[in-house]
Amino acid sequence: NAIPEPVASTSTCISAIQPTTEQSSSPYYKEITRVLKSVFKLESFRGNQLEAILATMSGKDVFVLMPTGGGKSLCYQLPAVCKGSSSSGLTVVVSPLIALMNDQVNGLRNIGVDVELWNSENSSDDAYAITRRLKGGVGELPCMLYLTPEKLSESAVLKSILGRLYEMGALARFVIDEAHCISTWGRDFRDAYAKLDCLRAWYPNVPIMALTATANESVIKNIIDRLSIPNCVFLKQSFNRPNLHYDVREKKKNTILKEIAAFIKSRHANETGIIYCFARAHCEQVAQALRDEFGLRAEHYHAGMPQAEKKRTQDQWQSGEAQIIVSTIAFGMGIDKKDVRFVIHHTMPKNMDGYYQETGRAGRDGRPADCILFYQYGDAKALMEQIAKDKDDGTTPLTEEDKTRLTEEVKKVMEYCTNISRCRRVQVLRYFNEAFHESDCHKGCDVCMDDAEVTTRDVTTEAIEAIKLLKSMSGNNSMAHCKAVFVGSKKKEVMQRGHDGLPGHGKGHGLGQKGIDQLFEELVAMDVFREQAITNSGGWSNSYLQLGQRANEVLSGQKRVTIHVKAGPASAGPSKKTTKKTASKPVVRTTSKKTVVQEKKVSLFQADNDYLG
Ligand code: ADP
Ligand code: MG
Ligand code: ZN
Repeated sequence: NAIPEPVASTSTCISAIQPTTEQSSSPYYKEITRVLKSVFKLESFRGNQLEAILATMSGKDVFVLMPTGGGKSLCYQLPAVCKGSSSSGLTVVVSPLIALMNDQVNGLRNIGVDVELWNSENSSDDAYAITRRLKGGVGELPCMLYLTPEKLSESAVLKSILGRLYEMGALARFVIDEAHCISTWGRDFRDAYAKLDCLRAWYPNVPIMALTATANESVIKNIIDRLSIPNCVFLKQSFNRPNLHYDVREKKKNTILKEIAAFIKSRHANETGIIYCFARAHCEQVAQALRDEFGLRAEHYHAGMPQAEKKRTQDQWQSGEAQIIVSTIAFGMGIDKKDVRFVIHHTMPKNMDGYYQETGRAGRDGRPADCILFYQYGDAKALMEQIAKDKDDGTTPLTEEDKTRLTEEVKKVMEYCTNISRCRRVQVLRYFNEAFHESDCHKGCDVCMDDAEVTTRDVTTEAIEAIKLLKSMSGNNSMAHCKAVFVGSKKKEVMQRGHDGLPGHGKGHGLGQKGIDQLFEELVAMDVFREQAITNSGGWSNSYLQLGQRANEVLSGQKRVTIHVKAGPASAGPSKKTTKKTASKPVVRTTSKKTVVQEKKVSLFQADNDYLG
């Protein structure tokens, strides 16, 4: 049982969509547009919203795959309010986060929608009032009931009430928001969500609507299987976010905060944004520095803070009192602030899915927003070391399989960050199996904006020399030492280890230091090399370069190694610095030749690490 064919796939998600004649001649269409305008005060639908609404109102199961900010909520909130469809009655919404539910319920009540909320935060009085209402019969029912999955699977009272409503034909539909939580393969798996696989068996005739922004195919298939909705109407939305500008920059330890502050002040003075950091302590430091040194209204947020403080910080940010939130990835899921104008990754994300979700919190109102990722090799290395040390989330120990998978995911982000020859959007969307044409980016990323010529240089010969060198070296050697031998350094501390004269020694000279950095980092990303952390007797941890799984594939010529090289502004003139590396290289592919000059361009390859420790 494969994933159903998508019935609609529009290329943009935020722009308004005109209904087809078939849609507008549906018996529900008049009521739907009335509710859209009079209740939700909206002008038009976005891609796939009307399709989803019509399908669920005619009693079909629906699967909505739509990026964050695409407008999934309306797909079930609007039909819940409509009168006169074949499946009118109570819409039951299962949602994973109480904060998320509170937001939605408050929003709905503000526009006059009759909605109830039942979760662990309800007092017994509340719960009593709700049960009375639900028992009261069809005339008494609210349009919607929001539940946590725990309530739905654990409350016997609720089960008997829903059973009774089912008998009366008063259940309009079940809605499973953030449906990826049901899949053990997803990253947000929730135990109580898994129990939702009983819904079809318990209430066979009630249509189900599942919604998620997770595009991973196996997760989607798993959701459809578990909810038993094999014949659902499958609505897949393009994941392109046309209003987001993607940018990857070199992270320079000493100047990054200055760069961030200058960017915010010049481009987003008084506009709201998020800065993502990796470590909790680091969020606090960065927020404080932005306040004290740069006079910005920044607050930190992470999972280690007391609940009340988290709430206060979130409220401050939501209201605009705090301009910037500096956070770990604990902040974000379910937060609906429409006017987030920038998302900055101070530390690279752990995987591309996370990158997409985190950047996706910007520009939910459809207006332009900036996403900047600061990359340095040291951060990738630190992340991989953490995974190797089994400290991914500190709760459950990682299996070897998990470690391999998580490391692969970090490497995909490394690849993304270092590939300066391919449109960022093409790269991001490829991760979601979506073909995207660079010409549709409209200079919406740093790569497409850049006028400099980027070439892909084949460095397989040099890679083979480097592998031979490492193979022949004895003892534990740091990456820095290996690079020094490879370039043929005559420095005393390099020479005294006696590695000169080995195969590969000095063979990297022609690449220059930057080229060697790129080569070695690419080899780590390919798993030709590995940096292995070894803790010595004194408790200090050092990392040493070792051969990885793929070394033989490169040695045998099966796999080629390429790096991306950009011709600097100097390459046009006679500067000795850059021309040496770029002028004589074999050009494999030229990806961009543009006329507009961009102010900033930097190399992305500098080994340094400032967020652990
Ligand atoms: P998702 O759940 O897919 O992440 P939401 O349902 O939270 O997205 O919607 C994101 C934002 O888009 C909300 O602020 C919502 O009000 C707005 N929105 C949704 N549908 C429309 C529409 N048809 N027209 C204008 N704005 C919309
Ligand atoms: Mg949502
Ligand atoms: Zn682009």
